Amino acid sequence: MSVNLFNRLLVAPIPYLPKSLVWPLSRRYIAGTDLDSAYSAVNDLNAAGCSATVDVLGEDSRTRDEAETARDIYLAAIEGIERNSLDCNISVKLSDLGLRQDAELCFAATRALVAAANEHGSFVRIDMEDSSVTDATLDIYRRLREEYSNVGTVIQSCLRRSTDDIKNLLDSGPTYIRLCKGIYLEPEIVAFNDAGQIRRSYCELLEQLLAGGVQKVGIATHDPALVEFAVEYINSKKINQTRYEFQMLLGVAESLRGRLVAAGHPLRVYVPFGERWFAYSVRRLRENPEIAGHIVRNLFTRS
Ligand SMILES: Cc1cc2nc3c(=O)[nH]c(=O)nc-3n(C[C@H](O)[C@H](O)[C@H](O)COP(=O)(O)OP(=O)(O)OC[C@H]3O[C@@H](n4cnc5c(N)ncnc54)[C@H](O)[C@@H]3O)c2cc1C
Repeated sequence: MSVNLFNRLLVAPIPYLPKSLVWPLSRRYIAGTDLDSAYSAVNDLNAAGCSATVDVLGEDSRTRDEAETARDIYLAAIEGIERNSLDCNISVKLSDLGLRQDAELCFAATRALVAAANEHGSFVRIDMEDSSVTDATLDIYRRLREEYSNVGTVIQSCLRRSTDDIKNLLDSGPTYIRLCKGIYLEPEIVAFNDAGQIRRSYCELLEQLLAGGVQKVGIATHDPALVEFAVEYINSKKINQTRYEFQMLLGVAESLRGRLVAAGHPLRVYVPFGERWFAYSVRRLRENPEIAGHIVRNLFTRS
């Protein structure tokens, strides 16, 4: 049986299982359901030499109320991060802040978060979702960047358009970019589907960003080959530590994470939390059944 088919078989029953059975699969990757559990996870990460970014689980708000609730949890997080003296910022999904219903509502909510973060000396990362909202996401990022410097976004190396997007962003002024492979299943016409090509694209885009003067790049990957490429590039070009950080997801590739921290590289961990952990887990697992394989393997092995 192929690995892919095995993973798909693992995913199929998950939406029908009781939450109590799915939670043990998800909990390594999710800090908990409330802000206090996120603060506690971040506190532990800070003690281990990592900075963090918290993500309130949720996407695709359907009503203004849902979008405003998401905004308010983030506002509370910005205040709580400072109150608890944590080395942490926030990562937001624009669809959670209403992007698919009303781009102006979403812009206003995101602007409120960036303004609050600015007052608290913090930073907002705008996550990148599927390719149907890439233009709208970059548009909101550009508008916010005209007013504030404490905001960044994400580029996905699987997308064919990413070289041009980076060029445009670098041309329009100082920019903060997280570079990742991209988690969404995309049609061939917009994205590379071959793993080797996505990797090559990642290396080229990382060079484009660092050689092109990006203010700071978040190197978001657990792929050992990409981490090795990045470390060699950083060392050979003597890239200052203010211009990059590695970024990893909570609970993933912890030994690689430990080695990077021990070698003195800045590293930020992405900490998801929230009431909507179940819907998030099911959607992620359906979209990318390979993760189910990771989750099950991680139950039995330490990475
Ligand atoms: C900090 C951070 C932020 C991200 N933000 C975004 C975003 O805004 N938009 C977006 O589309 N994508 C985002 N991603 C996801 C990213 O696009 C990839 O889908 C994901 O990181 C897997 O790719 P990889 O580079 O780690 O390589 P892979 O080849 O997929 O993974 C390398 C190795 O890492 C381990 N691994 C990877 N993922 C997992 C997992 N979930 N559980 C257990 N083990 C795993 C496995 O051992 C695997 O062999 C983010 C990833 C990180 C780390």
